[in-house]
Amino acid sequence: MQRSEAITEKMAQHPLTPVLFNWLSASPPDNLFRVNLKSLAGALLVDYRVLLSDFLQMVSAGLFNLSWEFHCTHCNAIPGFKHHFGELKSEGFCELCDLSFRNTLDKNIEVTFTAHPSFVNIPNGVVTRFREDMIQSVKERRYHMPEKFLSGLECLANEKFRELFGDQVLSTQESLAVETASFLFTDIKGSTQMYSDFGDAKSYEIVREHFKILFSAIERNNGIVVKTIGDAVMGSFLSSADALNAALAAQQEFSARQYNQAGYLKIKMGIHAGSAIVVNLNNSVDYFGNTVNLAARVQASVDDHDIRFTRRILDDVGVQGILKARRARLLHRTMQFKGINGPVDVYTLRAAAMT
Ligand SMILES: [Zn+2]
Repeated sequence: MQRSEAITEKMAQHPLTPVLFNWLSASPPDNLFRVNLKSLAGALLVDYRVLLSDFLQMVSAGLFNLSWEFHCTHCNAIPGFKHHFGELKSEGFCELCDLSFRNTLDKNIEVTFTAHPSFVNIPNGVVTRFREDMIQSVKERRYHMPEKFLSGLECLANEKFRELFGDQVLSTQESLAVETASFLFTDIKGSTQMYSDFGDAKSYEIVREHFKILFSAIERNNGIVVKTIGDAVMGSFLSSADALNAALAAQQEFSARQYNQAGYLKIKMGIHAGSAIVVNLNNSVDYFGNTVNLAARVQASVDDHDIRFTRRILDDVGVQGILKARRARLLHRTMQFKGINGPVDVYTLRAAAMT
């Protein structure tokens, strides 16, 4: 079967972006080994997230294999890789260095795609040559990770990955580090009163609709919903600007929407960014650590329909741009949070000042 026919047949339900279809139909097999999506996105002038969606769908259809490759943090070589996210371990071991290292999703884990042998046969020589070149470069201390690569975190944070491979979770014994992620926590102001006033069924209907608005705002801004905790939502983002944009979009929508009896819902939101660890909690991907705790505390300190964030968020270049464009006026406070060492500078964006 022609390669293009195989693609059309396997991807009937999810047609590829045309420029990718053409590239894939015509590429020599050598190019379909360890495809670097960031480089390909640059060459095809397509957003890497669009390509990622397509490639994940192709993995699901059996056309490609996805590889989580962990690079040695001492020499950069790739001592190993896994096709299944759930097989990743907290630590890797490099035989070349005889050293172990901590796996960090957004630092030393690179995600690549290689054509499945039943789709396109990659000549053995290509794989052998890659390995030999890598070992030779390591010996000469000049092996580096590519300047641009799809990180494990970028793959994990993709909605399509969650949709297709959400059942892939780490062993409960393992955790992966994350150098930088942004977390948004939200909660409904006065929800206990709402349940008392309107009863469980009506209140739950309102809460469910409010989830829809929040989930959509998070997903539209490249985030994922990590979990809900009662009426509260936790979202994670690759960038602080995306987290703020999601919060702003949701806040705007809630300000414009009146729930029959409940009136306007007031949503308290908090954002913080920093390092975290990814673990498996109740068979889904969850984030833990000081950053997550502080994001939750910042949210809990909000007492109205406001967005509050930390200095770390304020200092982000993308966030600065958003605030400037909105001519946002911020209220600055220094607060102490239970379980968090030292004072924390927080900045509040009032809903009323947002138009
Ligand atoms: Zn090494």
